[in-house]
Amino acid sequence: MKCKYDPDLFFDVTQEEAAKAICGGCPMRKACAELGATEEHGIWGGTDPIERAMARFRAATPQTQARDHEWDLVVELCAERGYTDVLAISKVTGVRADAVATRLGVEWVDNRAALVAELSAKGYGPKEIREKVGLSQRRIQELIKQSQAVAA
Ligand code: SF4
Repeated sequence: MKCKYDPDLFFDVTQEEAAKAICGGCPMRKACAELGATEEHGIWGGTDPIERAMARFRAATPQTQARDHEWDLVVELCAERGYTDVLAISKVTGVRADAVATRLGVEWVDNRAALVAELSAKGYGPKEIREKVGLSQRRIQELIKQSQAVAA
């Protein structure tokens, strides 16, 4: 199987969304994703390296070197893309922020409720707040309601 598109696009971390969009219309997508499942770089079948590393991390047996290796790779891939803090890594990986902090071995104080309240007071909507904070839409709605009740 050979991809007919420019390979540079599929290995450029700044072009990942564009590459994934191309994969979206490719008939070879499923086979390509399977072929690239263990690849540490590049877009394969519409999957990016972080998604694949997280899939391998979740599939690996807990407390094994294989699992630790995948996590280390996830952190490295996140850093390459500018995601270095606990919340950013949590958002990208879907791993709870406190669990990310534990894995990173860093102290982390959950100030997301205050952050949601602050952003809401500044006029940001739930969707924008979610993009910045990374909580579920429901949790953000709850926190906005709480902050509005406190402010009333
Ligand atoms: S799924 Fe994407 S990377 Fe794979 S062959 Fe198709 S366009 Fe190329």
